[in-house]
Amino acid sequence: RAKAGGGSSACFYSPEMDKAARDRCVLEVDLRRAVEQGGISVLYQPVVSTATGLTTSFEALARWIHPQRGPIPPDLFISIAEECGLVPELGRQVLETACREAASWPSHIRVAVNLSPLQFESGDLAATIVEVLARTGLPATRLQLEVTEGLVIRNVDRVFEILQALRDLGIQILMDDFGVGYSSLGYFERFPFDKVKIDRSFVSRMLESPVSYAIIEAVIGLGKRLGMGTVAEGVETAEQMNALVQLGCTHLQGYLISRPRPAADFEHILRAVPQTGQADARGAGSPS
Ligand code: C2E
Ligand code: MG
Ligand code: MG
Ligand code: MG
Repeated sequence: RAKAGGGSSACFYSPEMDKAARDRCVLEVDLRRAVEQGGISVLYQPVVSTATGLTTSFEALARWIHPQRGPIPPDLFISIAEECGLVPELGRQVLETACREAASWPSHIRVAVNLSPLQFESGDLAATIVEVLARTGLPATRLQLEVTEGLVIRNVDRVFEILQALRDLGIQILMDDFGVGYSSLGYFERFPFDKVKIDRSFVSRMLESPVSYAIIEAVIGLGKRLGMGTVAEGVETAEQMNALVQLGCTHLQGYLISRPRPAADFEHILRAVPQTGQADARGAGSPS
């Protein structure tokens, strides 16, 4: 179980630790410094509506460029941050950066921020979010929070209470990476998620695996019945896009549309006056 809080846990390593563990240890020290010195940046990946082809939101994704090693994968540094108590501060910084940038975007475009389960256990998450919204001037209705199943295994009642309080403010709550790990259909009985994000692993296999295809079809059908939007993650090919549109998926995200990039790269979208009915699915920048 990861340590929550305890911001000053030292990292000791010894010769008998294996290389991977020693590596993590060294990275922990460097990550702590990066978080303290504002070394975590944020990229944005567009999410487009299948109904209009327009970008409706951007997902904020944390980036850490190590001074010697270059980019460190978020899955790795987020898990290190979770283990060594850096998540509350790192999470707050990403939230603040994303809200500050999004406050200057056109009012129909939302920003989605990922939350670690540990952010529900440290301090008053709802108060922190309210404070960041107030400071940055972003209306609550333009913020989306992405949560994974991992959080619900812990203190279920408390977590849903916090999510409900956030949703009451007008913030949208998205179930991220649905279908992998411990995610359960029962969550939809406990909480009215605004959208469900279909994990990339299903999308990448959907055209080869009838099982993946059937799972996606079922999740989209469930979304329709429950009034939840469905976001397909990791859309990389036009064939996948067409199949997802055919199935009635409401939103798409993936390299086909755009890789995550700095907000400045999306100026053409973020400056644009909303024009309904104009196809712009590929307007998010060419895949690179
Ligand atoms: P996620 O929230 O599921 O984010 C989507 C991931 O899929 C991102 O990986 C994105 O770059 C990647 N992706 C999007 N489209 C495609 C595609 O077409 N093909 C492929 N191969 N990949 C695609 P990234 O940025 O490496 O982030 C990985 C994970 O790290 C995220 O998964 C999220 O769980 C976590 N993460 C990133 N930033 C934060 C953060 O600020 N806070 C927390 N708690 N977690 C974060
Ligand atoms: Mg996410
Ligand atoms: Mg995801
Ligand atoms: Mg994922």
